Amino acid sequence: MRVLLLGGTGEARELAKLLVAEGIEVLSSLAGRTAAAVHPVGDVRVGGFGGVDGLIAWLRVHPVDAVVDATHPFAAQMTANAAAAAARTGVPLVVLRRAGWNASVGDDWRWVDTASAAAELLPALGSRVFLTIGRQGLADFADTGLWTLARCVDAPQPLPTWCTLVLARGPFAVEHELALLRRHQIDVLVTKDSGGPATAAKLAAASELSLPVVVIRRPELPRGPEVVESVAEAAQWVMRLSHSPST
Ligand code: NAP
Repeated sequence: MRVLLLGGTGEARELAKLLVAEGIEVLSSLAGRTAAAVHPVGDVRVGGFGGVDGLIAWLRVHPVDAVVDATHPFAAQMTANAAAAAARTGVPLVVLRRAGWNASVGDDWRWVDTASAAAELLPALGSRVFLTIGRQGLADFADTGLWTLARCVDAPQPLPTWCTLVLARGPFAVEHELALLRRHQIDVLVTKDSGGPATAAKLAAASELSLPVVVIRRPELPRGPEVVESVAEAAQWVMRLSHSPST
């Protein structure tokens, strides 16, 4: 059985490892945006497919028995394209989408739909911002007039002049995040609702320091494909399919 695994996440790497160990042929697909991307086990291809039509054409030339979309919860375009291509080709598709984060009692979280809505809210909440939304959407915060520390894996190009950059890749520990927030006297945190443990420590640190947190909601999932929350469930979905008579 051959699976196209749309990746770019820790879960996708974990899943590739599990499936390869079960004898499944896995071709992981990465967008190619991260300079020193950690490659999963199994075969890897890098780069976009060229939209829905490009993905359909690719699937015709490289037939697979299933597609697993294990992209990041904010990779909405790839997820929409995969759903449309699967619907049009009949290739079975499952979406692996980790659960989102939830505030604990006493936390001051403000939910917004977009990066620009988060930027608008900030002046009422603080004056020293820690922005942890990656490179995309940074420009929406350029005109807040607030001192801003932005954390990204790779430096945005061109380099923004309106913020201080810290380049780092998770996972991060709570102690590390506490030290960072204190060192820069941060008084408000902005995050996307990425979910998962790798980058959750900043939320615990913000909670400990009673800082307000602006959380950008996830884009909605397309209707149609089955959705699972864990790597184990995604692996079971593939294994079930591999045992079905038509595969
Ligand atoms: P996106 O906006 O949904 O996708 C934009 C385009 O990039 C897609 O239409 C597709 O190009 C290409 N692409 C995206 N993921 C791909 C993949 N796994 N394999 C091949 N092509 C892919 O995606 P994004 O938010 O820029 O994220 C890009 C990658 O980074 C994803 O793999 C995602 O899992 C990972 N990532 C994203 C975030 C985030 O916050 N967005 C965070 C961590 C990791 P074509 O239309 O040409 O096929």
